[in-house]
Amino acid sequence: MMLKFPIYLDYHATTPVDPEVFRAMAPYFTEVFGNAASRNHEFGWTAEAAVEKARNQIARLIRATDKEVIFTSGATESNNLAILGVAEMYREKGNHLITSPIEHKAVLDTCHFLEKKGYEVTYLPVDSYGQVSPEAVRAAIRPTTILVSVMGANNEIGTVNPLAAIGKVCKEKGVLFHTDAVQAAGKVPLDVEAMGIDLMSLSAHKMYGPKGVGALYVRRRNPRVRLAAQIHGGGHERGMRSGTLNVPSIVGFGKAAELSERLLPDETARLRRLRDKLWDAIRSRLDQVYLNGHPVDRLPNNLNVSFAFVEGESLMMGMKELAVSSGSACTSASLEPSYVLKAIGVGEDLAHTSIRFGLGRFTTEEEIDFAIEKVVSTVRKLRDLSPLYEMVREGIDIKAVQWTGH
Ligand SMILES: *Cc1c(COP(=O)(O)O)cnc(C)c1O
Repeated sequence: MMLKFPIYLDYHATTPVDPEVFRAMAPYFTEVFGNAASRNHEFGWTAEAAVEKARNQIARLIRATDKEVIFTSGATESNNLAILGVAEMYREKGNHLITSPIEHKAVLDTCHFLEKKGYEVTYLPVDSYGQVSPEAVRAAIRPTTILVSVMGANNEIGTVNPLAAIGKVCKEKGVLFHTDAVQAAGKVPLDVEAMGIDLMSLSAHKMYGPKGVGALYVRRRNPRVRLAAQIHGGGHERGMRSGTLNVPSIVGFGKAAELSERLLPDETARLRRLRDKLWDAIRSRLDQVYLNGHPVDRLPNNLNVSFAFVEGESLMMGMKELAVSSGSACTSASLEPSYVLKAIGVGEDLAHTSIRFGLGRFTTEEEIDFAIEKVVSTVRKLRDLSPLYEMVREGIDIKAVQWTGH
């Protein structure tokens, strides 16, 4: 097959809508256009039935019951609703929340907002792989703790957290457990019962569904989680999220969840093999390359590598045939090194040399073969121009060199 450029290797930022998802959505824009809240006629009933089918498809993916799935505009809103909704509803019980410093901004900025409102937030340090320790969670829980929020898998470095062990600690301590599972969903098996999860954020566009639709799982029993609504209106979604439902997108989200569940075993095996092929080639053909994130507990489609002595930005410029990310997609507009890499102890210099490769459903073997050659040749070319790299090759200890100038 002929390669088409640029090759998309940024599946953590977003994914294309799967053609099967698109086909499922199509009729709901035109023929089946009813308002799912219209109780008086066929148009409304048909739309409502489609929404309920999607709710079931999403519930199945995470082993929840249908009524526990609340539709939102995306995971940014789901994270806001989970954290602000719990903070407001359980204010009598306490004002303390626990999270990690490498969460998505939709969690971190929401926590910062709460701090300004008088809440206290503990940002648990992560280890050098980016994992949160269940024992650290246990030690941080106070009588006033109302929520623990720890992501399922990190969007930059792909590290997967021990959700079941963290959930167990939360259950023992009687504290609610929220997880941002946007990157984990469809990549690692999720089970809200077995993992002791009370709230879970999901986003359709990270799993081959449309942008602008997401869900929040809200546990209904053992315990029944109550949330203060953040958007007020017609009382849709059990009163937790008002607003006319985006029926076509919800239908697409449901189909995407069904596909993800069905394809998960084969898809993750295929992506893991391609990802490992890419990493094995990079590390065998280049020296001074470092894997960021956990070597085993990581998303099958994620590879995050620091290429010492090569600026990430120059590397991306040198391989325009590849659509990849340097640092986080959300911070690549600024020249700040990624806060995730910083939190796992990657030095500022090395952080600036990091590239994130995100593989996905439509990534082919030929594309990975091309990517390997492109990455290896571009890194070599840039290093040939680097006096620092030359000195290291010659065995000079650059840390001991007296620099002139600044
Ligand atoms: C993309 C992403 C989000 C935000 O989801 P949207 O639906 O785009 O608002 C939240 N958390 C993680 C981990 C993400 O990767």
